[in-house]
Amino acid sequence: MFVMLAHLQPYLRAAALALGLLCATARPQDPQPVPSVFEFPCLGYAKAVNTRGSFGFHVPRGNSPFQDSWHLAEDVWLPAGSEVHAIADGVVRYSAFSPTWTDAQGETHWNLGNVVVIEHPLQPSEKEAESICSFYVHLAADRRVKVGESVKRGDVLGRIGKAESEENGRYPAHLHFGIHLGPYLQIPPMLERELRTAAKSKQGLCMGAVVLRGEIVLERSGVSDVRITAKESGANCVLSLLVGSTCPKDPPPDIALWCQGYGDQATLQEWLRPSAFLAARHAR
Ligand SMILES: [Zn+2]
Repeated sequence: MFVMLAHLQPYLRAAALALGLLCATARPQDPQPVPSVFEFPCLGYAKAVNTRGSFGFHVPRGNSPFQDSWHLAEDVWLPAGSEVHAIADGVVRYSAFSPTWTDAQGETHWNLGNVVVIEHPLQPSEKEAESICSFYVHLAADRRVKVGESVKRGDVLGRIGKAESEENGRYPAHLHFGIHLGPYLQIPPMLERELRTAAKSKQGLCMGAVVLRGEIVLERSGVSDVRITAKESGANCVLSLLVGSTCPKDPPPDIALWCQGYGDQATLQEWLRPSAFLAARHAR
């Protein structure tokens, strides 16, 4: 329960801001569907992903801050300074530094270093989803792209950050590369699960003064919000999907919950195994 509410906390904060202070932000640009040809984000990608950093790797209990969770991406072990490329045409949704901070519940949100997220709408022939988002984490400070910018397949987005540096989140030098199903602004399945579980709990789903109980309905409301309604009572509230990433004082743009590198086992279903996805669509 604690973890569940801790996860919701950035959403609640964002929702309060959205209701009180901010207007819904229009999406900067709607990207066009891209051909089903992708490339790897780095030269030598396949060889540079080892078993331990592979997709779905389970961190045993008692081993790290990510204990008993599953790795949602692939770690690409190449030297600092290696170029990182866009895997396909798309639009930049996030490009910012994401520092460590501790929220009101005492949960630490770990520094991810410099992060870029690109949304790639897929051709209708692609079965997985109408779009995917690619996540490039632990980059150097010299990111080459800005939010809203269109990029082409192969464009340089940045470089792998220096080992143990502030810019890369204090990790050994590597790229954490993930592919999340669906557009950047969506109701992340993990959030939906948490909301439904909270509404069915003894305390109910507390959204400020509103408490939602039992079965709930989630509907997109405008460009960036979701309306949550309790089926039985009709009580409802609006939640922003634009969550503050990670730093309360100087919040970079939204990053959703997706950019956590590790998650519970069910969360794996929201992510694709990057090497398999890219190998199947790679230009020969
Ligand atoms: Zn990783």
